[in-house]
Parts: sequence; structure tokens; C-alpha cells
Amino acid sequence: MSGETNPFESLQEQIDDASAHLDVDTDVIERLKNPERVLETNLTFELDDGSLETIRAYRSQFNGDRGPYKGGIRYHPAVSRDEVKALSGWMVYKCAVVDIPYGGGKGGIVVDPTDYSEEELERLTRAFAKELRPLIGEDRDIPAPDVNTGQREMNWIKDTYETLENTTAPGVITGKALDSGGSEGRVEATGRSTALAARETFDWLGDSIEGKTVAVQGYGNAGSVTAYLLGDLGAEVVAVSDSSGGIHDPHGLDARAVKRHKAETGSVSGYGDCEALTNEELLTLDVDLLVPAALENAIDADLATEVKADVIAEAANGPLTPDADDVLADRDVWIVPDIFANSGGVTVSYFEWVQNRQRFHWTEERVNEELERVITESFDGIVDAYETHDLPNLRTAAYVVAIERVADAYEQAGNWP
Ligand code: GLU
Repeated sequence: MSGETNPFESLQEQIDDASAHLDVDTDVIERLKNPERVLETNLTFELDDGSLETIRAYRSQFNGDRGPYKGGIRYHPAVSRDEVKALSGWMVYKCAVVDIPYGGGKGGIVVDPTDYSEEELERLTRAFAKELRPLIGEDRDIPAPDVNTGQREMNWIKDTYETLENTTAPGVITGKALDSGGSEGRVEATGRSTALAARETFDWLGDSIEGKTVAVQGYGNAGSVTAYLLGDLGAEVVAVSDSSGGIHDPHGLDARAVKRHKAETGSVSGYGDCEALTNEELLTLDVDLLVPAALENAIDADLATEVKADVIAEAANGPLTPDADDVLADRDVWIVPDIFANSGGVTVSYFEWVQNRQRFHWTEERVNEELERVITESFDGIVDAYETHDLPNLRTAAYVVAIERVADAYEQAGNWP
């Protein structure tokens, strides 16, 4: 991640860009550009050798006008207060653009989880859950997985919360394992929405996803699932990468086999007879569709001048700097914005929460059908705003739809000091 672009400033710029096309009071826009509150805390936990360590953590509750705060918790050494603020804001507009009844939040711990044992990570996670307990709840703030967290961490947080509250409240967190109240389809949901969003975009452009060449940067959950589901839709994934570098096979990769290789060896490198390439080479490869699925600021303005893809579908949150956005718009590259493209994760989190509240388990088929409906209908809404208001790009269109919904909810609530 480039250290130069502050993601919180990027978020605010995106809101400003969209607000210029909206008839919303500037005072309300100011509210919508800033978090309601941010918890900054220091977690002390015991290492396996009996010594103590103290690590910084955050939870930002950006906006609750449309419902409980909602968003993941990431474990990464680059986590910062401004990053968490930005990510929590993106959650607000993500939930609004797909019209699920949530506000936005995000949390993070400044940690490289590979430096710790499973027992140490459990103690760290439970320490965070203890700090979060007064802030979270099924109707208050509902965390979920994000970078380097998954079912295991969600199960620990749920158990800590329920133990301290002396209750059962599976809907306090989403992204749980199936036997702990998780939903079918949740693990694949982020990648599924990115693949569907790409399919919808090519269709709208009068083209088809079938036969399109694809490069995917980042091969965690979002990137790997997007890759194999795009393959299922008839696209050809020719290159993928992770933090160790990338692999390229112009004849196409078996994305599921690459995922297995990464699970066994720790990285995508060394798979098959592929040519090795750097992340930068992958991002500028001559493909039809590029999927950044890693961290913020993967593509800056310089790199944007070299991008050769016709369409970029953002599986990651904030992978393009605002300057890169401008360069790519000038070069007529279509960007399927993060708040829409990766919204499947939180959408199926919402389905999980609904199932938890109803104590009723949906089939995987039902989850996937409902997700597809949300994605196709939301895409139609974004395109409608783009065409009706003659907007410059799909990102601005997505924000116009989302900001209008959040502003309406705020204004309809009336005055409260
Ligand atoms: N971390 C995911 C995101 O950035 C999912 C959040 C959720 O399910 O609440 O959208």
C-alpha cells in the first residue's frame, strides 16, 4: 500500500464528488463525511511464554442513520485510525447502495497474525471482544470478518460476548462457522458479488463476460473466490498474485487448483508451469478485466497510466487512489466501484443476521438467489442514476444512490439535539 494517499481523505473526496450532483444540504453532507465515534484502545494479552504484550486496536462507528453499525474487523500491521475511519465510511455507503438496513462500522488490530500462535491470537481476540462488548450487540453494532480474520475469530468474539452477557446472541457478529450460527454461502459471498458485478457490467456494455481474460491481484478469500466464479461464468483467469508475487499463464489457470496450492504452500508462487510476475506487472497486464482484491491504494495515478484492462472490478476496499480514478476515467476504463462490487459479503452477513434473529436456516440455493437479486437490482439502480443524472462514472453514481438514502434517513428522523 502506498503511504502517500490517506484512505480517509479518499473517502471524503468521493463523497464530495457525488454531493456536487445531489440536492442535499451541505451541513448534512459534512455529517456524512465524518464518523460518529471511534474507539481507540490498547489490548494487553498474554504470550505463550507468560510475558505480556500490548497492541493497539480501533473500532469506528461511522454512521447509524439506516440501522446498526456493520462492518468487519481486520488484523494487519498497516491498520491505522484513518484507515479504519475510511473503511467504516465505505461500509455506510456499501450498505446503502444495496439497500440493506445497516449503518457502517469497521475495526482493526495493528498486528501481523502470522507472528503469533493460535492460542495467542485467541487471547488477543477475546481481549478485543471484551473492549467491544459495551459497543456491540445484535441491534447496535455487528462486526464481521475482514482482512486476515474469518470464522475462527468470529466464533471467539461471539463466545466472549455471549459469556459476558450471559445470553445467546448469534446475531452480534456475522461470518461465523455454520455450526456456530453462520450462513450458507457467506464465505463465497464477497467474491460472488464481484463476479456478478463484472458480469452485469459487461452485459450493460453490450458485451459478455464469456471469454474475457482476467487478472486478479490478491488471492485471499475475496480474490480467490472471484477468480473461480469468473471462471465458472466463462471468463479466463490468466494471472493471479498475492503478497509474495504473481503467476501468469496465457492459456488460463485453474483458479480452484491455485487456491489449493496456496493453502498447502502459503502462496500462489510456484504453481504449475506459470511465468512469475510482480504485482505491478500483474496490474498492468493486457487483460479485459482487472480485479484488485488486496488492500487500499494498489493502483495510484502513475500505475493507472499503464493499466491495459477495459474494466476494473474492485473486490478490495479502496484499491484505487482518487488520482488513479481520474486517470482511468480519462482513459475510458470502466470501474465497478468497491462499495457495490464487494457488497456481497455484507449482504450475506445481513442474511446471516436475519436467519439468526429468526432462528431459521436458509439453503445455500436461497442465499445465492437472494444475493444475485440484490446485486442485479442494485446494478440497475446505479446505472439508472448514471444515465438519468448524466454522471461522470459508476463510482459517483453508486455514491449518489447511497448518499441520498442515508441523507433521507437522517432528515426523516427529524431534529434531536
Ligand atoms: N469486511 C467485509 C466488507 O468490507 C464484510 C463486512 C460485513 O460482512 O459486515 O464489506
